[in-house]
Amino acid sequence: MQHPAQVPSEMVEALRESEERFRTLVQFSFDVYWETDAQHRFIRQEFANTLTDPPVSEIGKTRWEVPYLEPDEESWRKHRETLDAHLPFRDFELARPTPEGGKRYVSVSGLPVFDKTGRFMGYRGVGRHITNSKRAEEALRESEARFRTFVDHATDMFILHNEDSEVLDVNRNACESLGYSRDELIGTTPFFFDLELNAATWQRNREQLKAGGIATLESRYRRRDGTVFPVEVRMREFGQGGQRMIISLSRDITERKRTAEAFREMQAELTHANRAAAMGQVTASITHEVSQPITAMLCNAEAALSWLDSQTPHVGELRRALASIVTDANRAGEVLDWIRTLIKKAPAQKESVDVNNAILDVVTMARSELIRHGVSLQTDLAEVPLIEGYRVQLQQVVLNLILNAVEAMSCLDEPPRELRVSTTRNASGAILVAVRDSGPGLDPTIVNRLFDPFYTTKPEGIGMGLAICNSIIEAHGGRLWASANEPRGAVFQFTLPAERK
Ligand code: ADP
Repeated sequence: MQHPAQVPSEMVEALRESEERFRTLVQFSFDVYWETDAQHRFIRQEFANTLTDPPVSEIGKTRWEVPYLEPDEESWRKHRETLDAHLPFRDFELARPTPEGGKRYVSVSGLPVFDKTGRFMGYRGVGRHITNSKRAEEALRESEARFRTFVDHATDMFILHNEDSEVLDVNRNACESLGYSRDELIGTTPFFFDLELNAATWQRNREQLKAGGIATLESRYRRRDGTVFPVEVRMREFGQGGQRMIISLSRDITERKRTAEAFREMQAELTHANRAAAMGQVTASITHEVSQPITAMLCNAEAALSWLDSQTPHVGELRRALASIVTDANRAGEVLDWIRTLIKKAPAQKESVDVNNAILDVVTMARSELIRHGVSLQTDLAEVPLIEGYRVQLQQVVLNLILNAVEAMSCLDEPPRELRVSTTRNASGAILVAVRDSGPGLDPTIVNRLFDPFYTTKPEGIGMGLAICNSIIEAHGGRLWASANEPRGAVFQFTLPAERK
């Protein structure tokens, strides 16, 4: 101020006020105000030592970019180009070390200053502390990276969809399982690899999801190479930033399917083995049933021969003897047919089955077994309609229940050993078959487990009998269960829906 007397005091005052206003405004909006000279050395810094921290004493000496930690060399090079070209810059982010060994982030903006002649004088600018938001950003990035690692290492396929089913993101497992890269999958829809899904089923699943639930379904995915594998898919919908998204987690269930298939095969094998075992137990009955007509045929044939040898053969007696031979031969033939179907592995065709008739056949087979164990049998067969099913399988069930009952009763020293096989119709028209015994009965604590595969209380038992019976009855649309018999023993009964007319 060379001529202070020439400047009116009101003007000085107004200038001071305006400067004060400006200062308050800047201080309020920013954390630092700074100025550099034409050589980019600090010549002024206000409010905080943010930029030159700590060398305020070195103001006028330090070029302002030294020593900063961030950004990298390349960004600094570009920034220096901006400064050398005397261009304005905005929100340039940099970091300096703090005395505690941490980092302080600042975002700076600057405007070049020129004098009246257009000579570059330096920069004036402001800066804002951004350490906290930078830290939050870093934490978020780290947490996202952690989450990504976790998702990528998950053994399930993660697929993120928007509402229109478009794929927004996938994890590594999804890429590896399907044989596509992440970029190839993003932007597609699941109909691209999901063979069971279409727009309608997607919509239906979403209805379920909208109710806040998790939809679980089975499907088949096709890989890039065309091979197909079964999956279990769980889907859930959630909202993010005002957008609805659907996350689906899919798991390859090839192995699970294979195990189930192996179990079914094993069960089929066991059914066969069980049938063979049952065959062993009824060998005595069969021998009896077949040898009886053979003995009778032999007697009748011998009688016929001796009548032929006599002087006056009696034609009437001869005819009767031969007719008996035919009847007995047919009976033996029927028994053999029955055995043949019983041991045949391939399932027979479904047929119309007369349940009572099938039961009577089984009873005939088991008769000598019953006699051997001193079991008296009562059959109580009501008139029932035909059913659609596998006759031999149903006979296997009845035979199993009869042999189990005989076995249970043979443990008892106390007679009577009574077996009652009955058929009735229940209220809904289904056929109800019941096999009652007077054995030791069932322990109520294990009654639920009787039908489990391999459950047995017998030293020699396989424990598959009732499990197989159960699956046969279920396959016929019926139900098999066990309960206590009155006054003692057990009753095993099953229903069979009557054939629809
Ligand atoms: P297994 O005859 O090889 O033991 P099952 O599945 O046919 O296999 O029978 C399972 C178990 O159910 C038997 O071990 C036995 O404890 C019980 N059980 C079956 N039938 C009867 C019955 N009539 N009375 C009492 N217990 C029975």
